[in-house]
Amino acid sequence: MVGGGQGAYIGNIHRIAARQDGAWQLVAGAFDVDAARGHAFAAREGLDPARSYDNYKAMIEGELSREDRIDAVAICTPNFTHFPISKAFLEAGFDVICEKPLTATLEDAIALEKLVRDGDRFMGVTYTYSGYPMVHEARHMVATGQLGEIRTVQVEYPLEWMATAIETEGNAQAVWRTDPKKNGRGGSIGDIGTHAYHLAGFVSGLKLECLTADLATFVQGRALDDNAHVMLRYQGGARGLLWSSQVALGSSNGVRLRVFGEKASLSWFQEQPNELVHARLGGRTETIKRGADDLSDAAKARTRTPPGHPEGYLEAFANLYAGFAEAIHAKRERREPTDIGRDIPTAYDGLKGVAFVDAVVDSASAPNPFWMTPVAV
Ligand code: NAD
Repeated sequence: MVGGGQGAYIGNIHRIAARQDGAWQLVAGAFDVDAARGHAFAAREGLDPARSYDNYKAMIEGELSREDRIDAVAICTPNFTHFPISKAFLEAGFDVICEKPLTATLEDAIALEKLVRDGDRFMGVTYTYSGYPMVHEARHMVATGQLGEIRTVQVEYPLEWMATAIETEGNAQAVWRTDPKKNGRGGSIGDIGTHAYHLAGFVSGLKLECLTADLATFVQGRALDDNAHVMLRYQGGARGLLWSSQVALGSSNGVRLRVFGEKASLSWFQEQPNELVHARLGGRTETIKRGADDLSDAAKARTRTPPGHPEGYLEAFANLYAGFAEAIHAKRERREPTDIGRDIPTAYDGLKGVAFVDAVVDSASAPNPFWMTPVAV
């Protein structure tokens, strides 16, 4: 692992998720931008001190010199470091699991995706919400025509934790997220809008054609947007609306997706992730529960417990890790992956996310992003 040391957020989620199915072991790392703090963390994790490195370059060198070198690296650092760290590991011949957004600039994302496409390494990107079984069930229902032609997609990712200027109070996570050089051009849209965008496309199967965006910065002095509304036009004519916000009081982690087709609609909310609401033309609405016998193979492969025993965020993240392990094994063994290793987020999805952020910021900063018609009264 690179990053994810003491006091970091997502690194610990990766460690819990990776260990859950026994497919991964944490054996080496450069856990912190501060080497001494990283070594102290590695010691607490019980790692061999010889495999706790000062930085990612030393880690590559050290691991290349070992017979029992790492299989893959998880990159859990701030956005602007994803490109140089991923590139270095890929070029050294390692498979990579990287956090989203893939990079801080579109140029870097294009270069990284090309490196993966032209090479023979695996690169997974941790779009968390595509790890949930009921999200896979929704994707399966759309793909098998159960909603008919898709008309509209509504997706939102509201959070409340940045509703005040916590970056000025030293909040470690907020400090780099509000710095355009470290976070990238998009604030909320890059940090969480990319999750929403991936989720909407993953379930609906739709490909974005164009968009128009309205970005706002509500917290005074903040350099990036903390609220975004984006109108989406998909290829084939379907429409979408995406909302991301870091200042939405009362929203802990309110990821919500609704997909409306000509025959039915689906609704999924990450704070109730074990349920999918399916409403059909004619008025019948049913709640589909995770673990039910008649779900798709994609959902079953990502389910651990019977219905009624809640599964959530950690299991969804573990499904990504199980999927990455299976994809890597399948690649090495030159076979097709089993269900858990299919439809997992890769470098190409990462590139699409960064391209989305770029288009949103371009749209919002255009002289006339959309024609605003004044109302008379
Ligand atoms: P954080 O600030 O909590 O942690 C960053 C860690 O990286 C720290 O330990 C820091 O010391 C370390 N670090 C920084 N530069 C480094 C370097 N060059 N070498 C080694 N270590 C370095 O950040 P976070 O909130 O955990 O976010 C990290 C990444 O994870 C971001 O890209 C973020 O967008 C992403 N993230 C994803 C999800 C998700 O749901 N998939 C959720 C939260 C964050």
